[in-house]
Amino acid sequence: MSDGCITRVVGALAEASGMRDARLNELVRVGAAGLQGEVLRVAGDAATLQVFEDTSGLALGEPVRRTGGPLFAELGPGLLGTVFDGIGRPLARLADATGDFMAAGAELPTLDRSCRHEFRPSVAAGIEVGPGDTLGQVDERGLVHHVLVPPGRGGRLRAIRAGAWRVDEPFAELDDGTALALLQRWPVRRPRPAAARLAYDRPFITGQRIFDFLFPVAEGGVVAVPGGFGTGKTVIEQSLAKFADADVVVYVGCGERGNEMADVLADFAKLVDPRRGTPALDRTVLVVNTSNMPVAAREASIYLGLTIAEYYRDMGYRVAVMADSLSRWAEALREIGSRLQQMPGEEGYPTYLASRVASLHERAGRIRCAGQPERCGAVTLIGAVSPPGGDFSEPVTQACMRVAGALWALDAELAHQRQFPAVDWHASYSLYVGVVEGWFAQAVDAHWPALRAQMLRLLQRDAELREVAAIVGPEALEDGDRVTLAGAAAVRELVLGQSAFDAEDAFCAPAKTFALAQATLELVARARTALARGAAYTELDLMAAQRAIAALRSAPVAEHRRCAADIARALDPIAA
Ligand code: ADP
Ligand code: MG
Repeated sequence: MSDGCITRVVGALAEASGMRDARLNELVRVGAAGLQGEVLRVAGDAATLQVFEDTSGLALGEPVRRTGGPLFAELGPGLLGTVFDGIGRPLARLADATGDFMAAGAELPTLDRSCRHEFRPSVAAGIEVGPGDTLGQVDERGLVHHVLVPPGRGGRLRAIRAGAWRVDEPFAELDDGTALALLQRWPVRRPRPAAARLAYDRPFITGQRIFDFLFPVAEGGVVAVPGGFGTGKTVIEQSLAKFADADVVVYVGCGERGNEMADVLADFAKLVDPRRGTPALDRTVLVVNTSNMPVAAREASIYLGLTIAEYYRDMGYRVAVMADSLSRWAEALREIGSRLQQMPGEEGYPTYLASRVASLHERAGRIRCAGQPERCGAVTLIGAVSPPGGDFSEPVTQACMRVAGALWALDAELAHQRQFPAVDWHASYSLYVGVVEGWFAQAVDAHWPALRAQMLRLLQRDAELREVAAIVGPEALEDGDRVTLAGAAAVRELVLGQSAFDAEDAFCAPAKTFALAQATLELVARARTALARGAAYTELDLMAAQRAIAALRSAPVAEHRRCAADIARALDPIAA
């Protein structure tokens, strides 16, 4: 492969001559500094390259070196608890190696070559193995990291050796001479293969009441979370990354503010995963491309995140991908498209925006993994979208909504009232309810579906009444309607509202979600009974019960039983 030569540099793009048989998406090293880049277009002898690093030091005439392969992710033990940039370079080791400022073209592999991993084989030499078959395990920050035969490989296993291996040392050989190491490589833009796609069967438990109760997502499902600036997208993504029930979390910080990502890191290092009792960082991989990093790497970062997620999925794990935000990814796509002078579609986005959004989301799902032993894995994708001006009719929001099974629509007015999470319960929906309700009914309480329906009816009636009350004043309403308004206010405050900054409230187990919803709706039912028995609305004292419910909301688990008794005692006199 002969070198090319830079003929032009425009922003994140470079053009080069001498690239006749370069391939689309081939990885290249650009300029004397060897910046990483990718071939976007080849026309005759010339190629257009997108460069993943700052291009300001590039000069015309500098060489372009081809690598012959596409942009790969390095996969293996050592990903968890680490922060990578959009093309998979470990930021901490990069800073150690080059100082606080990243040197251009700095080449540091994703996985640390000096680190050894204790490998325990689970099969013996002599057997036939195929793609996805488990060969053994290593421990990765407390997670059993299954070592699998890479996709597309297989044959008779000639030798396999236990030991403390570095990721690039062969621990096994196949009869055809193929050496297997802990390190695998996979082109980030291609989905990793699975044996079969499976139907959804259970919820992805977020630990946020409004999502688990009203707008649940199935494990392997896709949620779009659109919201204007300051409506709480990042807080939601981070809360889920911290507390949601997943084996592995991949957090892709795409084009957002750098200080937010620094906060995530500091937070996660301190935080203990409520289920496993281990640091939250141990199950998390962070892919960071903040707003000050080059746009092309931002476009790639989401694919890197998905590839890492699929890798753990293939071991049989339940993986969650948090993407904040897909708008910044789409904007990168738009910028590159316009530099390529492609015909723009709606609002300047390339005409293939919707199909790119769709194929990206198709990488979520629940699957039967390739290989033996038989196992299932899932990738759940929660994608924040930041529509300019909070206008959901814009193309990125629309494209994401079309492929998502649930919509958590964030509302600026609710955020302004400090009703958080600021989820508009009238505009939001979930198509997963039918699939997951049975699970909640079985695992939490048989009345879960009925209670959910009851709460939605209350909120619906509340919206109608508030329109009326806005005209005639709440005092002019009938007593029964005033109970509805008061009940809905209690639901909003006690059940749907959840503080991300209160240690006991930030995460809510489904059983507690149910208890809070049940108590609040019971309060409404009691008030109605009291009215039916002749009491007037103004005589009702709902405050004591509301205080008791609020106490449960922020009580540690050990006190839940006592709180439930307090609630029952406070409810009793309302309609004794
Ligand atoms: P966005 O990412 O949509 O721009 P953020 O997630 O940064 O918005 O949220 C903006 C602010 O809203 C936060 O700094 C916080 O003060 C408040 N907020 C959002 N969600 C919550 C929550 N669940 N509990 C308490 N405060 C919240
Ligand atoms: Mg944000």
